Amino acid sequence: MRGSRQQLGRDGSALTRYSLRMGQLVDRQMASAALIAARQEAEREAAEARQAKLEIEIANNALREEMEVRLGTQSRLAYLASHDPLTALPNRSLFSGRLSAEMEASRAQGSRLALLYIDLDNFKDVNDTLGHAVGDSLLQQVSVRIANELRSGDTVARLGGDEFAVLQVGLSGSNQASALGERVIGALGQPFDIDGRTIFIGASIGVTLFPDDADAVDLLHRNADLAMYRAKSEGRNCCHFYNEAMNQEVHRRAFLEQALREPSVMSQMHLLFQPQIDMKTCQITGVEALLRWHHPEQGSIPPEEFIPLAERTGMIIDIGAWVLRESCKQAMRWRDAGLPPLIIAVNVATAQFRFGNMPRLVATVLAETGLPASMLELEITETGIMHDMHVAAETLVNLHKQGVALAIDDFGTGYSSLSYLRKLPVDRLKIDRSFVNDVTTSEDAAVIATTIVELAHALRLEVVAEGVETAEQAKFVRDSGCAFAQGHFYGRPTTADKIAALLNRAPDLELAQ
Ligand code: C2E
Ligand code: MG
Ligand code: MG
Repeated sequence: MRGSRQQLGRDGSALTRYSLRMGQLVDRQMASAALIAARQEAEREAAEARQAKLEIEIANNALREEMEVRLGTQSRLAYLASHDPLTALPNRSLFSGRLSAEMEASRAQGSRLALLYIDLDNFKDVNDTLGHAVGDSLLQQVSVRIANELRSGDTVARLGGDEFAVLQVGLSGSNQASALGERVIGALGQPFDIDGRTIFIGASIGVTLFPDDADAVDLLHRNADLAMYRAKSEGRNCCHFYNEAMNQEVHRRAFLEQALREPSVMSQMHLLFQPQIDMKTCQITGVEALLRWHHPEQGSIPPEEFIPLAERTGMIIDIGAWVLRESCKQAMRWRDAGLPPLIIAVNVATAQFRFGNMPRLVATVLAETGLPASMLELEITETGIMHDMHVAAETLVNLHKQGVALAIDDFGTGYSSLSYLRKLPVDRLKIDRSFVNDVTTSEDAAVIATTIVELAHALRLEVVAEGVETAEQAKFVRDSGCAFAQGHFYGRPTTADKIAALLNRAPDLELAQ
């Protein structure tokens, strides 16, 4: 028992030791397991952190790339918004910004600026006849030529189409601006070589000065534009400076355009009639109706001023219809009064001819007034016909079928294509008064007048010489074979009553006054 107790005691302590040992072992194992787990955890965390870092880096890279793309796009967009893609020149908005900044600078320095508007002459013809690709190349070459004439600090921009603008800085006077204008005209006047083709164009330039002419960007643009239009209307290929009169003209034009829109405007209008004479018999065979506008404040406004405005505003359709109706009514009054038959010639403005549905209007007015179609003549200018030959021909044929006579007014001043004369049902040519006026003093005018008469005869057309003012002119046009004449020599435009009085006089009356 004792032995077994001892044994047990021995065994017990062994067991205890064993247990302890085991305990220690377990503890150590647990500790190392915990350690391993902790290490694994740390490694996992480190891996996760690496992964996260990697992902952040990737995201950052993507973001950077995206930013770069966006910034690139933005700057490209900003560039496109401020430059003309064809010539790479600044566009109007960037140019205006520079103009504004330079105005500030020049205010501070007390210097001047010049704004030049440059518009190419005949560019439309190049585009129409040689195609847009040639037109584009031409614009690029033009932009280089203009840029070559500038000093550093000056800016050239393309405002659109064939219109360029130059900002010339640091000027002391207008001389430098006109010298630049002349240089640009010279440079653009040289032939252009495009794909082996030689092209000639010219340029019309309008110039305005800061601070002399205006103190605001938009006013400077407007002034330069006005001056440029003046250059165009004064024969092109020249340089014109803005002046205050142009501004007054714009105001007057705006005033008259508004006045033409007033419902009461037709009550301010009336017609005068100018005799047309048979040169053999010296008798009045017809009259031309000429419109007069007497404005209550502005007084008499010449038709050459208000007719183009009425065309621009579309008012010409109503005004022209009124003229036709009143003319036909008046012709009927003369007829009803038993006066000798008289052809009434009525002017038809280009816009009215194109958009006024003339065949229908004429048919309506003739039916309304009872005037025989053979007593009505319509005067149309060459430009009215040349605009759209096909449509014009249709309109003329339709009018001619109604029995109305057709005359080409101001002949010789438009872009005549002789071939159209053969094809159209035209009865008469009216030689423009600018030629008639000069027949006795200018050989050229005399040749033109006689050539027109010969041409008309070859095409079996009658000829009317307009604006005969002197006996010499009357003799010249009669000797040239011109059958009819009109002008101050025979009678100025006058009232319907005076025409009636003239017609009532004896046939051997001397019409010259
Ligand atoms: P137009 O049709 O060529 O008319 C002839 C113009 O020459 C008229 O001017 C007439 O007064 C003027 N004239 C006639 N004989 C002489 C002359 O010996 N010497 C000079 N220097 N001038 C002479 P007006 O009446 O001022 O008309 C000018 C233009 O206005 C007309 O030229 C015509 O184009 C237009 N116009 C006039 N009335 C009308 C109209 O009722 N409708 C349209 N659409 N245009 C009209
Ligand atoms: Mg006329
Ligand atoms: Mg005329």
